[in-house]
Amino acid sequence: MPHPDLPILILGTGLAGYNLGREIRKLDKTVPLVLVSRDAAPFYSKPMLSNALAGGKTAESLVMKSADRMAEELGARILAHTQVASIDTTARQVSFSNGEQLAYRDLVLAVGADPIRLPLDGDGAADVLSVNDLDDFARFSARLDGVQRIAILGGGLIGCEFANDLLARGIAPTVLDPAPWPLGRLLPEAAGHWFQQRLEAAGVRFRMGTAARSVARQTDGYRLELDDGSQLDVDLVLSAVGLRPRTDIAATAGLATQRGIVVDRRLAASAPHVYAIGDCAEVDGLSLPFVMPIMQQVRALAQTLAGTPTDVRYPPMPVLVKTPAAPTVVAPPAAGTEGTWQVNGDSDGLAARFIAPDGSLRGFAVLGSATAGKQALTAQLPPTLG
Ligand SMILES: Cc1cc2nc3c(=O)[nH]c(=O)nc-3n(C[C@H](O)[C@H](O)[C@H](O)COP(=O)(O)OP(=O)(O)OC[C@H]3O[C@@H](n4cnc5c(N)ncnc54)[C@H](O)[C@@H]3O)c2cc1C
Repeated sequence: MPHPDLPILILGTGLAGYNLGREIRKLDKTVPLVLVSRDAAPFYSKPMLSNALAGGKTAESLVMKSADRMAEELGARILAHTQVASIDTTARQVSFSNGEQLAYRDLVLAVGADPIRLPLDGDGAADVLSVNDLDDFARFSARLDGVQRIAILGGGLIGCEFANDLLARGIAPTVLDPAPWPLGRLLPEAAGHWFQQRLEAAGVRFRMGTAARSVARQTDGYRLELDDGSQLDVDLVLSAVGLRPRTDIAATAGLATQRGIVVDRRLAASAPHVYAIGDCAEVDGLSLPFVMPIMQQVRALAQTLAGTPTDVRYPPMPVLVKTPAAPTVVAPPAAGTEGTWQVNGDSDGLAARFIAPDGSLRGFAVLGSATAGKQALTAQLPPTLG
């Protein structure tokens, strides 16, 4: 029997937690709803962190709604600055680090992912910044005044977006990555070089095929030792080498975890009445840290929690890379897909299609003027999770 008076308890107030709250309220105006965040629980769009400088945004102006306004809008209790300590899935109860406990009808883990920290040597290693939430962005932007030289560790999506965005502040960053070309996991070689040239023309420097080994403090900044034996002197180091789903609390509670918290297509974890969504979740084997999967997940889970068990489905989900110097849209093929890249390009644009042996389109990357073809290509892709 469900407990009608116990709340749906959502751990996390990122895009996953808050959008689930909104979807639940579309279907059920009365179920008690409690959301918990270890930070101030502002509602903001995380993707804007990597194009905020060009837009003249600050950490304050990125906040779209405060926790109080969200509490009002959702008819929910929001526990900000509250850290989850442990979960008891048998007693259906969560304990917080302030000693409080809360029983739940259903529990949703939406706790996000942590930036991966490279194991760097040197007395400056602890000063390396990463930007994965508003508080991080506040720290990062507060350090930019007077800065000329920034090293960005990682030439993936987020590293390249920050590199492009820093140009708006008159800073020409240097991107370091052991891969031979940027966006290495998303673009085939010719597209990677096209992308790199565009960003270089705009002012970004790339040191591909090498990585930082150590970061040492200097009187006026930091000295990086690179694994090709060279050195790089900078004022600030930003790391953007990837994210790791936050699985610790779930694993300690005895829930199944692999890369993320393991959930099925109902978003259900391995204990009854426990679900996971967003960057912390691994849904039917897929760990996809983007906004579009979250929107599909929250719609399906809200239905399930309102009494209509609903599987999540993913349509094809291309990602817009926010690098105005090289407009880019990518829909990489699913891991392990057989096929080859076919690339057509000129100085205005480049289209790369990933074609399976049966001739069907399984992925694409379009850059520059070729981004005009993104919708037609998306329509030919199979669903990401059918
Ligand atoms: C710089 C950047 C740019 C991006 N750009 C894009 C883009 O252009 N397009 C796109 O699709 N995706 C983009 N993404 C990815 C997208 O933003 C994320 O997939 C999405 O925001 C994740 O939302 P979430 O709610 O799962 O996690 P988060 O937003 O990280 O929320 C996690 C929540 O859990 C809380 N929490 C964590 N641990 C605890 C604890 N122990 N106790 C209590 N609360 C806890 C946190 O306080 C927070 O409220 C970008 C990501 C970054 C970092």
